[in-house]
Amino acid sequence: MNLPLVLLEKAAREEHLTHLLLFHGGSAPYRRDVALRIAQILNCTSPLPEGPCEACTTCHKISSGNHPDVLWLKPLKTTIGIEQVLAWQEKVYLKHYEGTYKISIIEQADGLTLPAANALLKVIEEPPERSVIILSAGNVEGILPTIQSRAQLIYFPDPSEDVWLKGLEENNQQEAQLAFELSDHNQSLATAILETGVTALQEWMEKFCQAVSNRDFLTLNSLFPLDKNQAGVYLQALAVKIQKGIQKGSNHPFELLAIGKANDALRQQVNPRLIIEVLALELFQQGGTLCD
Ligand SMILES: [Zn+2]
Repeated sequence: MNLPLVLLEKAAREEHLTHLLLFHGGSAPYRRDVALRIAQILNCTSPLPEGPCEACTTCHKISSGNHPDVLWLKPLKTTIGIEQVLAWQEKVYLKHYEGTYKISIIEQADGLTLPAANALLKVIEEPPERSVIILSAGNVEGILPTIQSRAQLIYFPDPSEDVWLKGLEENNQQEAQLAFELSDHNQSLATAILETGVTALQEWMEKFCQAVSNRDFLTLNSLFPLDKNQAGVYLQALAVKIQKGIQKGSNHPFELLAIGKANDALRQQVNPRLIIEVLALELFQQGGTLCD
């Protein structure tokens, strides 16, 4: 689960950050700016309620790349090799020079070679005191699963998504980001999810998944009433979930096919309740689980 960007700064201000963050998505300069801001929040000597002062010596040193406790690691050519990680590892366990927190920013972290990633994993498993490691990568799939599973993921929206998010002032930004995740970054579906309600959708999907994995027809009753519009959004969100599950190997393609058929029926004006019940029965029969 991604921590919404808006909550990241809050966690940093309250010193609740985990020691390993994985920034992914968006653009590299955007991720770098946010990493530097986090370093400032954690080390600023005269912080303001809304964040770092950006005026003290510490803030200046961090933004100009001259702070001794902000360590950088990036590919020399196309990869980050083990010798780079070992050299960094020596520095990361040394006493802090000036800062309260030592921040390591590993850019293009999907360029870590396997031996380098394994050396990094050792540091992650014995985290140095008061230090935060930020991995930054365009694509989270390039990061070793054993590293991913230990990190707090932070998703950076694409520039167009960012504009979309900013245009939604009346909506809760956290909900908007959640809608984006549920839609797998499909703006029109995310908008539809926000309109029908993120929490309602999550609860509905949870109940439907439970009914399917328990082969419990009676639970289905609690899924209605459901209008055609809602049913369309819910089925699309289910399809996104199953698609992700298929990639991870926890779902089967027939589940996606069944949802596709349900969607077709919905377009042909079949009653939503009937469609959902038929879908559930089909999943019961074929041994679908839906839940991962
Ligand atoms: Zn400052």
